[in-house]
Amino acid sequence: MNYIAQLAASQNLMRVLLVEDEERIAGFIRKGLTEELYMVDVARDGGEALDFAASAGYDLYILDVRLPVRDGFAVCRALRQRGDKTPVLMLTARDAVADRVQGLDAGADDYLVKPFAFQELLARLRALARRPPHITDQILVVANLTLDTQRHQAQRGQQLIELSAREYRLLEFLMRHRGRVLTRTQIAEQVWGLDFDAQSNVVDVYIRYLRRKIDDDFEPQVIQTVRGVGYKLEA
Ligand code: CA
Repeated sequence: MNYIAQLAASQNLMRVLLVEDEERIAGFIRKGLTEELYMVDVARDGGEALDFAASAGYDLYILDVRLPVRDGFAVCRALRQRGDKTPVLMLTARDAVADRVQGLDAGADDYLVKPFAFQELLARLRALARRPPHITDQILVVANLTLDTQRHQAQRGQQLIELSAREYRLLEFLMRHRGRVLTRTQIAEQVWGLDFDAQSNVVDVYIRYLRRKIDDDFEPQVIQTVRGVGYKLEA
């Protein structure tokens, strides 16, 4: 692993290769993703994209369809032929069915039609990159709460804590984003997927389950409610 990849791994950052020849759009996406703590490289054409992809380990590719040298479809096909299984999000210029079909046939995992809302791009990226293998810390620690992500085991001090699969996933998500305020929507999207019912109180219910198991009988309390917004996990 090179230095940047190690740094990204140590900080749980996602590495994104953005392939976009339009300066304005590339700049806008890069700025937004950087603020969301992604590490972003930009390639300006299809040839550069394949060179970058070969030399660095990315967690995600964002591929514009209309590109100089090789278009996005050709780049995607070439990546897949190399055996590169990194998730690909295609950016298509218009909502043409033919483009979408061609993109998915070329091996893309998802597509987004320009112009798009930045929040939607973020949601797609999160969905594509739920658990990138090489940025996974094995043991997450907050105060005396530890989570072994290989064994799926939670522990408070010396005491092992039984969690259901969903509780585990919720706790892992909170611990990976420790110290950050997470909205109910962010939590629901990550832990339940994009198709959850926004009106449901499932997040609050599961936070209550989790508190009962990891906070009620222990000090310090690590799950904090951020009134009107969501939750934060912090010592
Ligand atoms: Ca373009």
